[in-house]
Amino acid sequence: MPIEDIRARQRQSLTNAAHSRLWLQLSEEMSMQQDHFHQLQALHGKYCHGTVATLPDGWTDIVKKFLGEMDDIGDLVDAVSLRFERSADGARAFAFPEMSRWHPHQMNSLRIAQRDLLHVSRETCERCGKGNAAPIAVGDGGFFLCEEHTAEVQEQLTALTEAMDDRARFRDSVSDILPPTTALLLPMTEYNTAIMRKALLDIKAIVEAKGLVGHVTATKVVESEGQLFLTVRFGPQVDPGAQFEIADIVKHAEWESDQASLAANKEDRDDAR
Ligand SMILES: [Zn+2]
Repeated sequence: MPIEDIRARQRQSLTNAAHSRLWLQLSEEMSMQQDHFHQLQALHGKYCHGTVATLPDGWTDIVKKFLGEMDDIGDLVDAVSLRFERSADGARAFAFPEMSRWHPHQMNSLRIAQRDLLHVSRETCERCGKGNAAPIAVGDGGFFLCEEHTAEVQEQLTALTEAMDDRARFRDSVSDILPPTTALLLPMTEYNTAIMRKALLDIKAIVEAKGLVGHVTATKVVESEGQLFLTVRFGPQVDPGAQFEIADIVKHAEWESDQASLAANKEDRDDAR
């Protein structure tokens, strides 16, 4: 496989992972507020199953309407229990057990209410509950959002693309000292990104100044538990002076990373207090 294709694949899989993380983060942000769930429970305790709490907060009102319709269907629905699911195509309500014992009118009313809930949910912003919502894809998933909240998510998606472009540009700028298959697109903490970039650019400057392109390779550029690790290999053409200078850059970068990582951990601990 040509190297460009490998890189494109690396980028694609990293982009997919970033989009999945964004989807998860947004789902959590939009999840139903506890007091809204408790209000629904207080109003419609009979049918307000725990799965209602897994729906987005913006759908609180339409679920409330649905539960009200359930109450109106009548006594026979006492035997039934409902489950709710936020599916890819909207809010779905499932009724258990079998509906065969019900009067056809009741079954019909239930079906209409289920269908209405599904349809209305697709037009209701999951974040704020406004109408006129439209679907927006985020990774493999998606959301139904109003114009304002679609724009917000769109911005986050654009920021992810820009961050990836920025990492790809940096990778290109130091490609002379990297093995061709190194992606170097992986996100790092901000402090390690800055330290890593400076170190690689400094190494590249020495390599270029001394005519050593192709003889110095940064074989490992990784972040592990907040700490940056660099490994550089030298070809036989590289004189000890250049090796020493580059080893010094690596040592200094790792030391800086160690300091920054300690400082970041201390901040975390202070925040936790
Ligand atoms: Zn909205």
